[in-house]
Amino acid sequence: MKSAISQSLWKEANRVLVGGVNSPVRAFKGVGGDPFFAASGKGARVTDVDGNELIDYVLSWGPLILGHAHPRVTEAVRLALEKGSSFGIPTEAEIRLAERIVEIVPSIEKVRLVNSGTEATMSAIRLARGYTVRDLIVKLEGCYHGHADGLLVKAGSGLTTLGVPTSPGVPAAYASCTLTMPYNDLDAARALFEAHGENIAAIILEPVPGNMGVVLPEDGYLQALRDLTATYGSLLIFDEVMSGFRVAMGGAQAHFSVMPDLTVLGKVIGGGLPVGAYGGSEEIMDRVSPVGPIYQAGTLSGNPLATAAGIATLDVLEEPGVFNGVVETTTKLGAELGALAREAGVPVFQTQLGTMSCMFFHDGPIKSYSDATASDTKRYAKFFWGMLERGVYLAPSQYEAAFTSIAHGPSEIDQTLSAAKAAFAAL
Ligand SMILES: *Cc1c(COP(=O)(O)O)cnc(C)c1O
Repeated sequence: MKSAISQSLWKEANRVLVGGVNSPVRAFKGVGGDPFFAASGKGARVTDVDGNELIDYVLSWGPLILGHAHPRVTEAVRLALEKGSSFGIPTEAEIRLAERIVEIVPSIEKVRLVNSGTEATMSAIRLARGYTVRDLIVKLEGCYHGHADGLLVKAGSGLTTLGVPTSPGVPAAYASCTLTMPYNDLDAARALFEAHGENIAAIILEPVPGNMGVVLPEDGYLQALRDLTATYGSLLIFDEVMSGFRVAMGGAQAHFSVMPDLTVLGKVIGGGLPVGAYGGSEEIMDRVSPVGPIYQAGTLSGNPLATAAGIATLDVLEEPGVFNGVVETTTKLGAELGALAREAGVPVFQTQLGTMSCMFFHDGPIKSYSDATASDTKRYAKFFWGMLERGVYLAPSQYEAAFTSIAHGPSEIDQTLSAAKAAFAAL
């Protein structure tokens, strides 16, 4: 793989950008080595500044379910741009995107659009606290909800469930309002609610976690959390920023028929532009300003370019057979990759739901963060570089999902599988 231009840009980037990047995972620390610089993308492929063409399974970390530069999205954004990039007063497209979200995501009656997943989870938590008049929230180990203070928290040492900050700059007092518990552990959830239930505003979780690799909920787990929160008058927040329009069109809540009180969205609903959203029942959402007293605002929220990209993305995705086509591609690819790993004698544990998938370099089973972090990350890194050399770009970390798009067709799958065969053999 040629990399002279990427290497020289990387040096320049490090002079003026922190660590050369604007979001840490892009620095490839999870696999060692330096990132390439993207020049352009079309369909399933991204071309770097050195002219290497790569089949992309990162897809901007999930949003690009139609692939890069889909003509319908590009055209919608271009048309919107020509009419003005932002107004700060209501536009019709905001209604149309909100209508689609309300129609597709079963538990949402009303929605508020924001600019990122982080902003949406922050706002949903404020709403849950304001609505319940309680301070504590429960976060699950290994779930990621963006970089807001109260969510950069891990379990404290020993038996305490009181959160401690995972980042300097997060006040310990604030982190102590976040309790943590392991994913898929119902006993831990029951114990936590017995001890603190009356003060818990909400549980926030990725119903299908995709930020520790992809981990699936055990049978009945999500419903049990639904029941537990209802018993204690706490809210259940599903962070479907990744799983929304990926696990199923209507997200994990549609797939498992478990309805949260609040849902957080992002990624796919922005079609590659900056968007987030949170929504729920009218009763809860009407506590947000200007109807209710819980404050949340945004200069660029509901931005015309972002809403145009989001609507165009959902339009294409809702055409008959389109979403299921991406699911089929994901399933086929997973099955064939698994067969290649077995042939090569490389132990892997694969997970998949809808268009999210993951291959852990681990025997499995993987049900929680502590299981996931037992994976052989060195081996993953070697596989990652082996694939990149052969023209396939996987996530630069074991603890990420692989994403497919409507543009991943038979030729991309074939090329991916022949690269994988060689990369497994080289392990
Ligand atoms: C990506 C992600 C976020 C954060 O969204 P940003 O737009 O990066 O702020 C939050 N929750 C989940 C589940 C995500 O995957």
